[in-house]
Order: sequence, then C-alpha cells, then structure tokens
Amino acid sequence: MNGLMQEHGLRISGLIEFAARYHGDTEIVSRRVEGDLHRTTYAGVNSRAKRLARALDALGLQAGERLGSLAWNGYRHFELYYGVSGSGRVLHTLNPRLHPDQIAWIIQHAGDRALAFDMTFAPIIQAVASRCPAVEHWIALCEAGAITPELRQAVPGVLSYEDLLAGQDDHYVWPEIDENAASSLCYTSGTTGDPKGVLYSHRSTVLHAYASALPDVMNLSARDCVLPVVPMFHVNAWGIPYAAALVGCKLVLPGPALDGASLFASMDAEAVTFAAGVPTIWLGLLGQMQREGRKPAALRSVLIGGAAAPAAMISAFQDGFGVEVRHAWGMTEMSPLGTVCTLKNKHLGLGPEQRMAVQVKQGRPLFGVDLRVVDGQGRDLPWDGASMGDLQVRGPWILRDYYRSGQPSPLRDGWFPTGDVVTVDPDGYVQIVDRTKDVIKSGGEWISSIEIENIAMAHPAVAMAACIAMPDAKWDERPLLVVVTKPQTEVSREELLAFYEGKVAKWWVPDDVRFIDAIPLGATGKIQKNKLRQQLLAAQC
Ligand code: ADP
Repeated sequence: MNGLMQEHGLRISGLIEFAARYHGDTEIVSRRVEGDLHRTTYAGVNSRAKRLARALDALGLQAGERLGSLAWNGYRHFELYYGVSGSGRVLHTLNPRLHPDQIAWIIQHAGDRALAFDMTFAPIIQAVASRCPAVEHWIALCEAGAITPELRQAVPGVLSYEDLLAGQDDHYVWPEIDENAASSLCYTSGTTGDPKGVLYSHRSTVLHAYASALPDVMNLSARDCVLPVVPMFHVNAWGIPYAAALVGCKLVLPGPALDGASLFASMDAEAVTFAAGVPTIWLGLLGQMQREGRKPAALRSVLIGGAAAPAAMISAFQDGFGVEVRHAWGMTEMSPLGTVCTLKNKHLGLGPEQRMAVQVKQGRPLFGVDLRVVDGQGRDLPWDGASMGDLQVRGPWILRDYYRSGQPSPLRDGWFPTGDVVTVDPDGYVQIVDRTKDVIKSGGEWISSIEIENIAMAHPAVAMAACIAMPDAKWDERPLLVVVTKPQTEVSREELLAFYEGKVAKWWVPDDVRFIDAIPLGATGKIQKNKLRQQLLAAQC
C-alpha cells in the first residue's frame, strides 16, 4: 500500500523560489573581477535567473543541453546555478586552473553548446574556442563594453551576458522538471587518467543541500553569513550555493581575492560566521589572523576538507582564536559530502589530546551516506579503529555511472569504491589513512603519508609538508618528507627526523628530508604528489 502524500518533485528552482519568497532581502555580496564590491539579494538573483532562462530559450538551448562556465565565485555564477539548472539545462562548471588543452578536451567531451566565462578567463577562451566547434554561444559575463577587441576577434559573435539579460523580463515560471533529470556536471581533476564527468540530478542536489545544513554538518540557519572559499567550479562549492538558498543565509562570494588579507577583510566587514575550503587556503587566513592578533569578528566555524586537516591547523583555529573546526571528507562523485567530524557528548569530557585524536579524523557519515570497509577480496573489515581497508559508499547523492565514459559502471555490488584507504572506529568515525595511490608500501606494510605530514606540520618551522613514496631496492618504497619552511626559520634534516621520535613506529620515520621552495598544488589547491615525485626523481638523475 502506498502512502497518501503528494508527489512533489525536488527541484533546484524550488530552492531559489523559496529563498526569494522568504528571504528576499537577504544579501549576496560579491567581490567582482572588476575589483569592486557588488550587492544583490535572493529576490534579485531569482529575477535575473529567470531573465537568463528566457534568454537561453531565445538562444534555442534545449532541456538537458549543457552550458559550461569558467567563473569565480560571484553573483553572475550564482545566477547561472539557478537560471541554467532551474530551466532544465545542465550547468557544467569547468576548472579554469586546468591546462587549456584539458579544458578544451572536457568541453568537447561534455558536448557543451554554450559557454559563459568571466573576463579574467578571456585568454583561455581565446586559446580554446577554435578547438570547440560544438560550442555555438560564447557568453562573456560582463557588460558589452567590457569585451576586448582581441576577444571579439578570436571569438566572433561573442555575446555579453548583461546584454542578454537586458533583452528579457522576468515573467517566467520554472518548468516542472522530473526530479531525476540532470542538473549539473562536474569533472574530476583527472590525476589518474582522463577527467571523468559526474552528472548530478535535481533530486541528488536538493537532498544533499538538506543534509549539508544539518547541525552536525554545516549547521546553517537564516542568521548565518557564509563565505565559500571553495570555488564554485570545485564540486559546486561543496553544495553551499544550494544549501545557502535552502536556509536563506547571507552569502559572501570572494571572486578571485583568495589571499589571507583579502579573505580576512571580507569576513570581518560582512560578519561572516562560517567558511569552507581546502587546507592550503587556510594557511593564508591563519597567517593574517596571527598578524592581526584576532579572528574576523563574527567567525564561529570553518569547514576544512578536500585533503587532511593537520592537528596543528585545527588547534591554531580552535585554541588560538576560538573558531571551531569541522573536518570533512568527500569526493566529486559524492556531491561531495560523505563524513563530517563533530564531537558527541561523550567526547566533551576528554582531555585536549584525546579530543584532538577524534578531530583529526574525517568524521561520521551524514544520514544518506552508507559506508563499508573491505579488504582486497571484498570482505568486510571490522570497525575497530585499526583495520585498514578500502572505503566503499552508497547513497542517493553518490554516483552510479560516469558521464559518457564508455566504461561499465564503477560500482561493485551497488557500492562505489572511493579509492581511499581508511580505518573506522566503533562509533563510525572514519580516518583516511591515504589515497590508495599515495599510501607508502614499505616491506609489505603500509605507511600513512597523511600521518607523516600531519606530524611535520606540527613543527614550528614547517609551513607545508608532503610525504611521498620513493623507490627502494630493499623495501620497495620508503617515505621521503618534503618540506617548505616558514620565512625566517631554520630547521635541519636531523631535527625534523628526531621530531618523529615517540610519535610513530621507527620504521614509519621518513628516510630523508628534502627542503624545497614550493610544493606543486593542483587545480583544486591540493598537493600534487605525482608531480612532486616526478620532480624529485628527475632531480636525482
Ligand atoms: P580530486 O582531488 O581528484 O580532484 P576530489 O576533489 O573529488 O577529487 O577529491 C576526493 C579525494 O580527496 C578523496 O577521495 C580523498 O582522497 C581526498 N580527501 C577529501 N577530503 C579529505 C580529507 N578531509 N582528508 C583526507 N583526504 C581527503
């Protein structure tokens, strides 16, 4: 027997309609590529998103067709999130930090029919346009007057976004799209092989937004002010543009101004309460907080994810400035949230060290994410906080198939293999030991590169650390620690190696330390271990 409740589909347009209706005057503040500060509201965004939908109708873009974006976090990109997906098209966010060859490949693979871009990325468009014959409409996210002659020459017929919107009114009713229809598309960064497309649906996106706002996840309410440092081209800024509309909170979109001083100033001036980003981005903000001797006035909590948050970083925020850290784990294939680390009542009485031992873990799964840990033969491993195995997940916002991959589904018995090696404790807290490809295999045993890095980061002279496997005749692989030191500090190889004494088993201690000026970061701000390994091996030859 079925229940007797209404069948209302979950749709992205519902989020912006709700925000415009009940939080119409709540602000969306953006640092524009033009350099100035721009203010709009949810009502303003809804109106312009509807004008955009009408403009896309006029251009003949059909339901399900892809519109690519190359844009920073800003109000126009936010309008694309709703105008494109809300009207039944698919928003395909592209990462501008990728190489233009890779960008051209992804645009072609996705079959984008239109592409909208910030003027900062005009040089990329000039480089790739001739290689993307399927793109019929190139849309510069600016006034017509801001389009340069070079761009007009390289991309004949390039359109101005503001002109498109000016030609339309906002008399538009969002279509009643099937909740399982595709809404947005995001490619993995392709550190292993070609990038792969993850195609989200209205349903997966709205369910993920509900879950993100929960108290033990992002803890968002209408009284919050959220700054996503994580780019809107990196897994939909971890879903924040949707979750923000769902609760009606104020949004601050930082554009290209992602250095510590700019982030601090925006957070302080706009009374930001919550921000989210990868660990490398927080180094800059923490540096600025230390220089100012205070936190941005209203900041209560930061979500750190995408790579492991070292204990030293968690403690700098919490003990140094009273800003709560939420450590999170996820993947592009998971929309992206999988687990978030918040404490339970039973942890509150623990001493500082034991509490930190919980907080460096990546946390408990959200309702909606099911997980299991298996050995090489696919057998379940115990949740004892010690047995290491492959993490597999399933749930309504987790990928089933890659987009146009030509490959069979990656699922095994309905579970998605994450490629992460983990332990899970009896309370269900997951600890990422390593990515399968980064774990160091020494004499048949595993060494966690993440743990080695976290310890190095606790040394006062270390600004950034990476631990990578180097080939070894006797042990197959041995750990090498690569370090960037803080300015005006000195530390020797011996001192750093001695720092590991008593913290890990002797055979986990790196064999050597290499000091370098900068560690290569990938398009999403994570350490590129492949590239680093190649650089170091090349330097040895
Ligand atoms: P990519 O890094 O390949 O672009 P994603 O952004 O989807 O792709 O990254 C997902 C991966 O990032 C995870 O499988 C995991 O290895 C790593 N990761 C994400 N969050 C964390 C975290 N908090 N701690 C450690 N690793 C993490």
